[in-house]
Amino acid sequence: MTDTRYARQTVLSHWDQNLLRRAHVIIVGAGALGGFISLGLAALGIGTLTLVDDSMITSDAASPVGVDRFRFLVGASAVSRRAATLALMLGAINPEVSVRSIPLRLRYDAMALSMPACHALIEASGDPVSQRICARYARQKGIPAFMGVAGASGGACAFVRDDENDIVVTAEGTPDIGVCEVIAGAMIEEVRKQLMPLPGDGAAVAGPFSYDLNQQTRFGTTTHPPSTPRLATSFGNVLIIGAGALGTYVALGLALSHGDSISRLTIVDPDIVEETNLNRQVLYHDAVGQPKAVVLARKLKLLQPGLNVMPDVGMVAAGHVEAADLSFLCVDNYAARAQVNQWAVKAGRPFINGGTSPFGGHVEVCAPGHTACLNCRLDVDRLAREQAGRRVRCGDAVEAGIVQTNMLIAGLMVCEAQLAHSAPLASAIEYDARAPARFGLRSARAACDCGQQLVDQKTAQQEMQNDHKPG
Ligand SMILES: [Zn+2]
Repeated sequence: MTDTRYARQTVLSHWDQNLLRRAHVIIVGAGALGGFISLGLAALGIGTLTLVDDSMITSDAASPVGVDRFRFLVGASAVSRRAATLALMLGAINPEVSVRSIPLRLRYDAMALSMPACHALIEASGDPVSQRICARYARQKGIPAFMGVAGASGGACAFVRDDENDIVVTAEGTPDIGVCEVIAGAMIEEVRKQLMPLPGDGAAVAGPFSYDLNQQTRFGTTTHPPSTPRLATSFGNVLIIGAGALGTYVALGLALSHGDSISRLTIVDPDIVEETNLNRQVLYHDAVGQPKAVVLARKLKLLQPGLNVMPDVGMVAAGHVEAADLSFLCVDNYAARAQVNQWAVKAGRPFINGGTSPFGGHVEVCAPGHTACLNCRLDVDRLAREQAGRRVRCGDAVEAGIVQTNMLIAGLMVCEAQLAHSAPLASAIEYDARAPARFGLRSARAACDCGQQLVDQKTAQQEMQNDHKPG
């Protein structure tokens, strides 16, 4: 067994990959949410996964499930079962993981007995009957269990506790892949804590948590986030800067849920795929040594044949940002963040920044003239100078990276993108897997001078030009 694949997570203090290798997790529901939970657990290296779902893939072009399109990556037919197709995909992502699928829909308690013994149970089908059966089964067997649900604009997750009555979580509408990534990422981290507790993890999640894009507060504790239709959005020309873990999940969220709203998607990244990327970048399992941007574009094209996607193997340039109606900043260094921020503010182009750590992350929506820029929020110019100095002195240290925080933060970025032009979020979103509340908004920042001055200058210039126009 090779540990190179897991090098970016085993670098974390007290991480025990063998504990995860010996673990068996059951995922009930192989739809969009169950699909993303499974992708993450396979990348993380959970030794055995069992998928419980009896549904068939929908073959129409606009599949409501989205993840049904993974069949194009593994060569499964349109009449396959969802769970079996997903199992093929998971086996490709990580051949070390043993994946089984059981064609079963839980309709009464005795049916749960056909599930094998496991260390954690995840209910992601969205079916209240199945949720109640799983909760009773988990309590009876003393297994930690989570219920999750994702809808068109929000989702929820609840931990099954011994001392409570049945908890049911619901969300309406076609699951948005961005929402699925948020809920899946959060659930994977809670499951990781149950399977492999680490010092500093803090207490298990106290109660249900929910996400709703249409609420100003975004996060809450409801088990029934309100039903709201998906917002009609035109993304225009979109740029993804960085095709690493964040970029992979931003790209999947955009392609699977918003492919029709994108005129052109450009992916810029100078890197090639390395084996140490495979613990979190789930589309690169067969592409070690190839340029990430090219591989990501090729796979997105398979998933969404109508998508106009262009890879660019190299460094991001001012022209990329100026040509994009919206950019996603998915990089791991301050130099690129500082540079892109300057270009975007100067050009008046909105962008969404994401940052992750092994146990948390943050999202900033930067819409020049409407919200604070990234330098005013995070002091990226100074951090870039400091980081450059450190790298000269010590070289690049191996940085830890795990799948769930990247999936979660990318999902939030994709969701916020729908509001970036109409109602850009003034607060930064923060996720801290070790804080009691897990999610929160940092107090809102007013639009900064950096953006506003440039908007004023531009207006003044335009007015001068208009004044000098021959009447
Ligand atoms: Zn600023």
